[in-house]
Amino acid sequence: MLFNRHNTRTNLISIFSIVSLPYDYHMHTPLCHHATGEPWEYARKAVESGLSEIGFSEHSPMQRDDFDDWHMYLHDLDNYLDKVELARARYPELIIRIGLEVDYIPGHESWIEHLASLHQWDYFIGSVHYITDEWDFDNPKKMDQWHASDPWQVWKTYFERLTMAAGSGLFQTIGHADLCKKFAIYPPAHLDTRELYVPFLEAVRDHDIAIEINTAGRYKDCREWYPHPDILREAAAMKIPLSFASDAHAPDEVARDFEMALPLVRECGFTHFCAFEQRRRSLIPFEEL
Ligand SMILES: [Zn+2]
Ligand SMILES: [Zn+2]
Repeated sequence: MLFNRHNTRTNLISIFSIVSLPYDYHMHTPLCHHATGEPWEYARKAVESGLSEIGFSEHSPMQRDDFDDWHMYLHDLDNYLDKVELARARYPELIIRIGLEVDYIPGHESWIEHLASLHQWDYFIGSVHYITDEWDFDNPKKMDQWHASDPWQVWKTYFERLTMAAGSGLFQTIGHADLCKKFAIYPPAHLDTRELYVPFLEAVRDHDIAIEINTAGRYKDCREWYPHPDILREAAAMKIPLSFASDAHAPDEVARDFEMALPLVRECGFTHFCAFEQRRRSLIPFEEL
């Protein structure tokens, strides 16, 4: 059990109930233009929640800052590093890693390699939000395109891109691996989504990377974490490692639902969670929490 003596807001009940939680490696900063709170505030929340390690993963800069309105600008990279450094200075008892949540779009590979060369990152999360060069399908402003599309085709393209991301060698873990369910628009029941996600998981396994349990999905229309327990069970059976992700866009969301997610992922067959440093992975048994 970890208890932080500097945490004056911890009350007597939580002193006895806090066990440490898996490291939350998916959190954002205001530099993406759609998150609130400074990194030091996320760090404070992490310490209050009993975490000993976290990592920031801001939406990575795109090749052009006007690509869309929800990525960090390239010229803010130093600002990002400085903000995370300030959080480290304020909470020295907390290990704070730094990475990026990187959009995988076919053709952007050399840009992603360039991003990798700009800093000694601890990890890259590979995420698919774009299923064409123009359609970021998880963007609530673009629901018209969902209504004009065949859900099976959207899901199929999503998992094809996710499979390419897993095989690209550019990422340590794959973000929210069934984000296509975000708006609760599903393919017809007679079509088996297993044929979409199994090849993806095989690519993850073959390239020895991890996937996330991402707890943000429970607060979206789909009302469940990413990915679905069926995908988690299949991943655990393939011995695929698991990283933990709140996808926090505000300090209060750090490690959200992790206590609930832990028994679920253990029931699915996972025994360890991931830690990343300098783009190398280690695995920590849940018993060590
Ligand atoms: Zn975001
Ligand atoms: Zn994302």
